Formats: sequence, C-alpha cells, structure tokens
Amino acid sequence: MTLPQRTGFKVVVKPIAEKRMALNQCPACGLPKEDWKRRKDWTCCCADCTEIFWKEFVLYNGWSDLRNKVFERDNHRCVRCGADGKAKIKLEGCYETIELDADHIIPIALGGDEWDINNVQTLCGRCHKHKTKKDIKEIAIARRTDIQKQQGQMFLPLVES
Ligand SMILES: [Zn+2]
Ligand SMILES: [Zn+2]
Repeated sequence: MTLPQRTGFKVVVKPIAEKRMALNQCPACGLPKEDWKRRKDWTCCCADCTEIFWKEFVLYNGWSDLRNKVFERDNHRCVRCGADGKAKIKLEGCYETIELDADHIIPIALGGDEWDINNVQTLCGRCHKHKTKKDIKEIAIARRTDIQKQQGQMFLPLVES
C-alpha cells in the first residue's frame, strides 16, 4: 500500500447524482441510458437536464471552487488565529490583505478526503505553514510505518517456511 495522493481535478456531485451515474442513469432525472435519445457518452439525457445538473447537483467544480466555498463558509477568516482575509493591514508601511489558504485538516496522504468540505479549513499563510510542518512530520512517520509493514510482509513468508 502506498499513501494516497491528490487527484487534482474533480467535479464533486451530490450523492444522489453519483448513485444515478453509477447505475447508468441521467444524474439529473434518473432516466436509464438505454432510453436516452442522445449519445450515451454525454453526462445527462438532454440539454435541460445538463442545465439542471450543473445548477442543482454539482457541489464543487474543481478545487478552486471548493476552496472558495470553504473561504465563504469560514467568513474569509483563519480558523486558528482569526486573521481576516478581507481586511487590509499595514505591513511594512503598505496596506495589504492577508492571504488565505484552504488546508486539508486530515492530510490526503494520511487518508483525509480531498473533496469533503468538512475536511477543509481556512488558514492564513502563517498558520498554514505551522500546520504543514506538523503534517509533514506525521506523513513521514506514516511512510516509515508503511515501509516497515511492506518489508514485514516481504520477510514474513521466509520466517514461516
Ligand atoms: Zn435527464
Ligand atoms: Zn492564522
């Protein structure tokens, strides 16, 4: 087993739409693919359903969309120190805004869900740096345990025979 990695791009849809797609149905209306009047490699059964699908069934259209929704949910504030991403602060004589990052609470490499909004939080750059440092340590430990497990599996049969 290797540690999971980021998938990069994904359109995250509501569970009902995901279920319908898995069953070869139109995600918006549930019409089975064999009854479609258009090509079966489209996502939805008709143009109207496509519109409804994007309006009502798509939760996040990729990471930047999810990220923006996380910022909105957290009122554009760092959840650790409360730094306001919308306020202008004076930095070395210039007014600047604090940059915010969207952080995976449980890192993807440790099994955290990349696309679950509940696993993503708003952090300011400084808090994110601290958190990343901690994450890297934990991931390194997980990796070591993982390698030890793999070696253990490799050596186990030898011990047994
Ligand atoms: Zn449809
Ligand atoms: Zn902060």
